[in-house]
Amino acid sequence: MNRHHHTRRDFLGLTGANVIGLASGSLLDAVAFAEKKSADFDPRYADLVVFNAKIYTVDPSIPKAEAFAVKGSRFIFVGSTAETKAFIGKGTRTFDAKQMTIVPGFIDCHNHADGNILLYEVIVGNPYEVEFVTIASIIDKLRAKARKTPAGFWIDGYFFDDTKVKDSRQLNVHDLDQVSTEHPVCVHHRGGHTSFYNSKALELAGVNKHTPNRMGGTYDRDENGELTGRVTDRVRDVFNNVGKCETFTPEQKAQRDRDGMAYISKQFVRYGLTSVHHEGGDFFALQQVRARGELLHRVSFESSGDILEAMIRNGISTGFGDEWIRFGATSEHTVDGSFSERTMALSQPYAGSNPPYSGNITETQNDLNAWVERVQRAGIQPNCHANGDVAIDMLLTAYERAQQVAPRSDVRPKITHCTLINDDLLRRIKALGAVPAPFTTYAYYNPDKFHFYGEERMQHCMAYRSFLENGIRAAAGSDFSPGPFAPLMGIQGMVTRTGWNGETWGANQRISVDEAIQINTINGAYNSHEESIKGSITPGKLADFVVLADDPHTVNKDKIKDIEIIQTVTGGSTMYEK
Ligand SMILES: [Zn+2]
Repeated sequence: MNRHHHTRRDFLGLTGANVIGLASGSLLDAVAFAEKKSADFDPRYADLVVFNAKIYTVDPSIPKAEAFAVKGSRFIFVGSTAETKAFIGKGTRTFDAKQMTIVPGFIDCHNHADGNILLYEVIVGNPYEVEFVTIASIIDKLRAKARKTPAGFWIDGYFFDDTKVKDSRQLNVHDLDQVSTEHPVCVHHRGGHTSFYNSKALELAGVNKHTPNRMGGTYDRDENGELTGRVTDRVRDVFNNVGKCETFTPEQKAQRDRDGMAYISKQFVRYGLTSVHHEGGDFFALQQVRARGELLHRVSFESSGDILEAMIRNGISTGFGDEWIRFGATSEHTVDGSFSERTMALSQPYAGSNPPYSGNITETQNDLNAWVERVQRAGIQPNCHANGDVAIDMLLTAYERAQQVAPRSDVRPKITHCTLINDDLLRRIKALGAVPAPFTTYAYYNPDKFHFYGEERMQHCMAYRSFLENGIRAAAGSDFSPGPFAPLMGIQGMVTRTGWNGETWGANQRISVDEAIQINTINGAYNSHEESIKGSITPGKLADFVVLADDPHTVNKDKIKDIEIIQTVTGGSTMYEK
């Protein structure tokens, strides 16, 4: 028994530093798995051996390697090709990587994962890449839908991006009146904080040129005081209960949720994501998709509403679940507006705004304090959306207060976006051990919006260099649908700070390829308290990895986003293959 034990330990490659990293019980899992399989398979041998690769492990104890062995769902050995070949037995699958690059599976810490919108709704912009569309194409798509829809029902368009329009002007109420005067029409900006309405929708909601703005949002007007049709943030709630919406039977709804979830999972692995933090979504559908074997990525489920309330009531805290579906932080509790749609709360007004406009705060300090305290007392990792410096300040005040009135260790309060920082905010984030998840793909995808902020402010936005220098474990948060989720597009933007149009903004925040990979892997694992089981290619950790056709360290930095994903592997299983 002793000898057997010793042998297995050697075989697992669990020596020195690696054993220390496994305090969470993953060694036990790996052993249990080997035990179960040992009737069928010789435990000395791996299920999968990958060799002849350029492996960036993101594990400081062995940063580069040529090969690794996988047993069950975990890495059991990482090292040279010659050493690793010792794990090849009769039933072992082998993969000669032919000097391709392998990195840990990418982790996206903020994603709205709207699979059923992608599958079933009218999509008026490109969800994944930079692509310009015409206003006429938007009108056409929505008209086609209106023709099939009874009068009075909503006609919705999704994934609109106001700076990816060939007409180079704002979409307006008159455009949408061309879709229909019988149906309420809404075009949702992909950023999620602004929407564009036709006259019918405004009329049904009782909004006219005399309707005053309220706290948390605006009904935009042109220079003559007429409504433009653009409505921002919270005041859009006036549209909630007007007009008719398509209804579905419970069976139809369940089927759409399942198929949507399975669909988005396929998209994630296509781009190399093996873990994604979901902002809510249908939890039942998620479990069914997993049961059907169609969940290809791991989910940190960030709950709100009924599920969050049920967690609080029933004592379900962050960390409950398993390595495929686990309750993580809360979903983002919104404190201010949007970066891309220029409604985030700034201490200085937007460049050129007249009258001076400083964005929208959508929450009072008292309400925010109470919400954070309640969640923290329930043992749930709080997570708030804060973009502007004013909102981040409010949020930190609430997090600091919660640590005073309901202190807990290792909370890692999450800051979704954390876009515009300053030295004081950095100091407070570090002191709290808070974990920001800033935008990743924006530097490449959204340079056409940065002039609204100006270069000085952009030097403090998506401030990955500042976070690293201050010892803050920033992670990657694509915020899909607002941003594309492709991790390689994100990495390119972090490294170059240059957009699709060739403009560079805030070059002082550039980071290295290695740092960008860490942010997209191990820091993502840290963000959900899972760094002991994933985020690096380390013996004992989950075998989540991506095979890349080229090495992001050596290709032209402006081509990182174009590197082909050859394979995405989650838990030792190939989930995507080119
Ligand atoms: Zn979001």
